[in-house]
Amino acid sequence: MLNHVAAISRLGTEDAFAVLSRADELTKQGKKIVNLGIGQPDFSPAPHIIEATLKALRDGPHGYSPPNGIPEIREAVSNDIQINHQVEVNPENIMIVPGGKVTIFFAVVMFGEPGAEIIFPDPGFPIYRSLIEYSGAKPVPLKAREGNEFSLCAEEIERLLSPSTRLIIINSPSNPTGAVTSIEEMEKLASILDNHPQVAILSDEIYDRIIFGDKYNRSFLTFENLRDRLIVLNGWSKTFAMTGWRLGYGVWPSSLIEHATRLAINSYSCVNLAAQKAGIAALSGPQDNVEKMRKILDARRQMIVPALNNLPGITCQKPLGAFYAFPNVSDTGLSSSSLQEKLLEDAGVATISGSSFGFHGEGYLRISYANSIENIETAISRIHKFLNQQPS
Ligand code: PLP
Repeated sequence: MLNHVAAISRLGTEDAFAVLSRADELTKQGKKIVNLGIGQPDFSPAPHIIEATLKALRDGPHGYSPPNGIPEIREAVSNDIQINHQVEVNPENIMIVPGGKVTIFFAVVMFGEPGAEIIFPDPGFPIYRSLIEYSGAKPVPLKAREGNEFSLCAEEIERLLSPSTRLIIINSPSNPTGAVTSIEEMEKLASILDNHPQVAILSDEIYDRIIFGDKYNRSFLTFENLRDRLIVLNGWSKTFAMTGWRLGYGVWPSSLIEHATRLAINSYSCVNLAAQKAGIAALSGPQDNVEKMRKILDARRQMIVPALNNLPGITCQKPLGAFYAFPNVSDTGLSSSSLQEKLLEDAGVATISGSSFGFHGEGYLRISYANSIENIETAISRIHKFLNQQPS
């Protein structure tokens, strides 16, 4: 028998991929599945992005490129941050990576080891906990509370801090809850962290351009006092509907960028050049598709939340960002995972169990509304029918 190291067995997963393959399998069998499971925009990248990629493929170059990303894309990211957040970031502190997830991996392996503690949101993106456990650090869940609109509470983070805390992971707008951290709470957290200079922060801002209503999402980059220990994750997947292109970036403090670059050299060497050219076109070209997508997602949000609230045993708060609804399903009488399974197998609607996002996600379901109004309506009426057939 092979004798692999224990750490690898602690690695978790993202159930959304298993649900996606099961939904695809059912579709191949001829079933009509409405997929509200996987978290990706149902839009295509803007034509100028595709054109830039085709040109890059035709004209080359086709060789290796710098492991931290070509200078032009790091410049473009720096300009984009300046435009959106009025903050100066040196392109030398930007690291282009194959997908947003890679920044999580790099940050957690830099700070996680036995004896260390890492605070992370629960419910939250499942990769946080998975990688913390893999690293050997102690996962310290920060409960996202429905009574607090699932939003981050700075004082709760303060209570969780210990002399062993190395890293805090925060995520706004949030996957899976759609919560957006208020500016006041961000300011509170920044001032609390002033008293804990040994703690690093990973701010996952991948949904920062998909925000609704008047709660303005400020980047943690605007807190000068945190810059020497702040890692910001962002990328092209959600904003530009490019999940399959595998393109993301991290903004790193100067003391860590060399470590991040070495992690790249030790794993994937450098990011696909044509994808980087696409990334430049996305940031430097017309931005109207971003706003168009945001407005369409908002209209779907306005439609799905009341529709979910009309379902028996389900209540749903209005999310303020990303493209997920996170209804409370505890009164349906089914556990989140069995509801997920039955909705897919019996009703033909793919959703993700809240428990896939952590212990505190039990009793909830994540529903991605990155799908057409027509499909969402079909899904809602199928869920309604399914719930009505349940024994009371
Ligand atoms: N962070 C959050 C909160 C996400 O929801 C996702 C993707 O779903 C990622 C990071 C990873 O993004 P990417 O697909 O670019 O790796």
